[in-house]
Amino acid sequence: MMLVVLLGAPGAGKGTQAAVLRDRLGIPHVATGDLFRTALRAATPIGLEAKAYMDAGQLVPDDVTIRMLEERLGRPDAAAGAILDGFPRTAVQARALDAFLAARGGRVDAALLIDVPAEDLVARLSGRWICRAAGHPYHATMNPPRVAGTCDLDGSPLYQRDDDRPETIRARLASQLADLDAVVEHYRSTGALRTVDGREPIGEVSAALGAALEAVAAGTSGRA
Ligand SMILES: [Zn+2]
Repeated sequence: MMLVVLLGAPGAGKGTQAAVLRDRLGIPHVATGDLFRTALRAATPIGLEAKAYMDAGQLVPDDVTIRMLEERLGRPDAAAGAILDGFPRTAVQARALDAFLAARGGRVDAALLIDVPAEDLVARLSGRWICRAAGHPYHATMNPPRVAGTCDLDGSPLYQRDDDRPETIRARLASQLADLDAVVEHYRSTGALRTVDGREPIGEVSAALGAALEAVAAGTSGRA
């Protein structure tokens, strides 16, 4: 059983890399959002318990989330392990997960951090521009218009939604990064942390993650 926690800020490319790892390792990608949706759809007792919190507009307590995770990890497709994405989100959750796994003789084998500096994240996440006439989307670096500020298709001016402005993104990221840093420090202290440079192209990030996992599997660890 290989339990992998995938860590990265919004915009770090976690979703893309989770899919690559899933195919490479042949173990499921367990994203917290999917976990909730599946438990709700199946209407399991724990799913209904989670729903009661959500319906009341409250956060689902960590122990409920962990029991949903337990259900998910108990399914046949997770017999060889799983890639957790979105949980743990805080240091408290990371400790709760460790305690849960330790009680069953398990542990987080690897916490893989796709590391991208905050300002690079702001540039990635705030690069979205939209045309006034028809909403055609552009991105300042990944999909720029031929003429700055003008839609290629209809010549109308491009604008940024408030949610896509750098200052909005920066404010939202600050609290998310503080939580992420605490989780990263947790796994650094347990020795499970492996860090890859998320500024590299997607293929190179995938290769670095694969190499880190192979080192973990072989028990020869260049610890981050
Ligand atoms: Zn347009």
